[in-house]
Amino acid sequence: MPTPTNSLKAVRGTRDLLPPETALWNHVETIARSVFSRYGFGEIRTPIFEDTQLFARGVGEETDIVSKEMYTWEDRARAQSEKAQSLTLRPENTAGVVRAYIEHKLGDTGQLQKLFYIGPQFRRERPQRGRYRQFWQMGVEVLGPTSSGAESPLRDAEVLEMLATLLDELGVKGWRLEVNSVGSTDDRKRYNAALREALQPVKSRMCEDNQRRAETNPLRVLDSKEPADQEIINGLPKIADFLDESSQSHFAQVLAALDACGVAYTVNPRLVRGLDYYTRTTFEFTVPDGSGLGTQNALLGGGRYDGLSEMLGGPKAPGIGFAIGEDRLILTLQAQAEAEVAAKMDAYIAPMGVERNAAALALARELRRAGLSVEVGDGGFRLKKSFEAADRVARRIVILGEDELASGVLTVKTFATGEQTKVTRAEIAAALRA
Ligand code: AMP
Repeated sequence: MPTPTNSLKAVRGTRDLLPPETALWNHVETIARSVFSRYGFGEIRTPIFEDTQLFARGVGEETDIVSKEMYTWEDRARAQSEKAQSLTLRPENTAGVVRAYIEHKLGDTGQLQKLFYIGPQFRRERPQRGRYRQFWQMGVEVLGPTSSGAESPLRDAEVLEMLATLLDELGVKGWRLEVNSVGSTDDRKRYNAALREALQPVKSRMCEDNQRRAETNPLRVLDSKEPADQEIINGLPKIADFLDESSQSHFAQVLAALDACGVAYTVNPRLVRGLDYYTRTTFEFTVPDGSGLGTQNALLGGGRYDGLSEMLGGPKAPGIGFAIGEDRLILTLQAQAEAEVAAKMDAYIAPMGVERNAAALALARELRRAGLSVEVGDGGFRLKKSFEAADRVARRIVILGEDELASGVLTVKTFATGEQTKVTRAEIAAALRA
């Protein structure tokens, strides 16, 4: 006897997206594409795996992502001419976009590059609601040579204003924008040193994670949600006091432009974000508790990364970008029940008896060609079952029985009103469209 085997399942932290939920994903992506294009963004698609070095250098060795969350493997050489190479499934998309910018010499055009992407990212995090090992991000990057205006605070404000528009158009309720400036690379260095010093006498009273961060990456202590450590963290020096004049003025101009556009925000001096490449403006959009995200209330995050291109061996190319967690966006929309979940189909055709199946399919073909969305039942179903199936997926049911076929007059029932009417074959498409 063959040994029974366990059935195979999707890997922990990954999941299947099924209809009707996929319709909501498509709806969200359609709106995002429309907003991005109105602001002058074009799509970029970079490979899903890259040389491990890209993330080690671009994201930073000390970050959680690089130190413990990447899916990395040694890709064996297949021919003598080939070298083995360490490859990694992309944990985020900014490094890939900047690599592509450098590789294709996009800076040589002298133009500002406004790029967007939509795609899966991979991090080996502990799975929970709103946190997966394969998750989707929709993001944008604005970058270019300094002469293209890529460093201008106007770009930061435009990106933030676009996000406010996108979330409003998607119907996300109660979002909050938190902004901060982490200053230039030099400001950050001075701040890091001051933080390290301030943490020295108090770190032994903090949790183990924060003790480690105090050594390796003191900025990350500010991110900590550990309740027992909050009092100490609140007493630490603030980055705002370490910004040089040009970073201060840059930040002030971003905020002034947001004020002019009427985009509401809160300055959060603790918002430093986990990735190493951020400079100056950093931001996060959160949603209120009860929006379906549990403890993961950050919907999206981003910031400016003026030195990233140089870190990757490219020319100076200041830039700013963000990534929206699409999974979290969908969870929010579902919980807030505001999304226009895919509308029901226009009609369900119910043949009465299997002899009517072929005629039902022919009618469906005619209606689908006329642009209507149509589902076809089966003549083997009893009337009650046809009605139940139709009510689940469509706004109306069209009954196709012997009499209807003979007379060419069809019975149509609209579920929302309970109204039942007789419609001629010639008028059916128009009636279903109404
Ligand atoms: P980050 O690239 O870490 O700045 O993340 C940007 C956004 O991506 C976050 O605000 C989340 O919405 C989303 N995100 C990050 N990690 C995950 C994950 N493991 N699962 C789902 N969404 C995530």
